Amino acid sequence: MLLFTPGPTPVPESVRQAMATPTLHHRTPEFEAIFAQARKRLLDLMQTDEVVMIASSGTGAMEAAVTHLCHDTLLNINAGKFGERFGLIAEAHDLGHVEIRHEWDTPATVEEVLHALRAHPAIDAIAIQISESAGGLRHPVEAIAAAVKAERPDVMLIADGITAVGVEPIDVTHIDALISGSQKALMLPPGLSILGLSDAAVEKIGAGKGYYFNLATEIKKQRQNTTAYTAATTLVIGVVRILEMIEEEGGVAALYDRTARRARATRQALESLGLHCYPHTPAPSMTTIDDPDATAIRTALKEHYGVNVAGGQDHLKGAIFRINHMGLIAPHEAAWVVNAVELALDGLGRRPYDGTANRLFNTIYYGLERAQ
Ligand SMILES: *Cc1c(COP(=O)(O)O)cnc(C)c1O
Repeated sequence: MLLFTPGPTPVPESVRQAMATPTLHHRTPEFEAIFAQARKRLLDLMQTDEVVMIASSGTGAMEAAVTHLCHDTLLNINAGKFGERFGLIAEAHDLGHVEIRHEWDTPATVEEVLHALRAHPAIDAIAIQISESAGGLRHPVEAIAAAVKAERPDVMLIADGITAVGVEPIDVTHIDALISGSQKALMLPPGLSILGLSDAAVEKIGAGKGYYFNLATEIKKQRQNTTAYTAATTLVIGVVRILEMIEEEGGVAALYDRTARRARATRQALESLGLHCYPHTPAPSMTTIDDPDATAIRTALKEHYGVNVAGGQDHLKGAIFRINHMGLIAPHEAAWVVNAVELALDGLGRRPYDGTANRLFNTIYYGLERAQ
C-alpha cells in the first residue's frame, strides 16, 4: 500500500535502519555529538536564530510557542482544524483571544490582520498556519508578518510550519516562532516537535513559563547539546539521517523544486480529469480535491489500486480527499496516484479511462510543456 496521506508520511528505509541501532544513553558524549549535528542541520533547514527539539507531537510546540510568546491576547487565524487549535490553546491558558475565521478554502489577508490588530491593541502575538492541512491551504504568512512588524514590531509572529518546513522555502525574516514536527515533511515517526525561534522570541521567553514545556530551560540545555528531560534519542538520530539523505539527494533547494513540480503536476493532472481543487491558494504540501464522490474515490484507491490518501474532517468529512506531496517521493509513485484516480473515476462511470492524468503528470513534472 502506498501511503499518500499528508502526515504521517512514509519513513525511508535508511532512516528506519539508522533508528534501529541499539539504544544510546542520552547523557553521554556519543549522544551529545548526535544532538549537536541535529541542531546544526535543523538551524540550516529552518534558517532561524535558535532551535529547540521537544519530545511531543506538533501540538506541544504550538502550545509552548503560545504560552511563551503571548502574554496578553492572541490573534489566531482559523481556516481549518489546526488554526482553530491555536485559539483553543489560548483559551486553555486563560489568555485573551481574538479569532479571524474563514471557510477552509480561503486564505487570510494582510488587511484583515492589520484591521484586527488596530481594533484590539492588547494583541501581542499572532498565530497562523503556513500550510493549513485541513484544506491544503497556503496562507500569505510572510506578507502578513512583514506588514505586522512594520506597524507593531513588538507583536510576536507564530507560524505553524508543520506542513511547510522541508516542503517549500519560507522567508523567516519577520517570523518569531517556526514550528515543525517529525511525522510530516521530515518523514520520521511521530513524537518530536521542533521550534525555530528569532532572537526577539528568545528575549520574550525570558525565564520561561510552565514546567515540561518551559522553553527557557530547554534553550539553556540545548545550547549545551543536551535536553532538560530524557531526549527522544531515536527520533533525534532520525533527524540527522533524514537531513543527511536530503543533502545526498541534492539539498533542500532541489527538494523544494521537485516538491513544487510534483504538486503542480498532480493538481493539473487531476484538473484535466474534470476534478476541482478545493483551496483558493493551494499549498505545495498536498493536493486537496473536493468532490461528491470523494469517499467512493478514496475507497477505490485503497481497495483496487493500493493507494492510501486522506479524507476530510468535520464539515468536510466525505467531501474532500487529500494527496500528500511532502517528503522524498519517487515520481513514478506520484504518477501512479493520479493514474489510479483516473482509473477510479472510470470505475465509478464518471469518465472513460484514456491515460490523460499520467501523461499530463509526466509532461509537467519533467518540464516538457513547451516541447508540445
Ligand atoms: C499535523 C499538524 C499539526 C500537529 O499535529 P500533531 O498531531 O500534534 O502532530 C499542527 N499543524 C498542522 C498544520 C499539521 O498539519
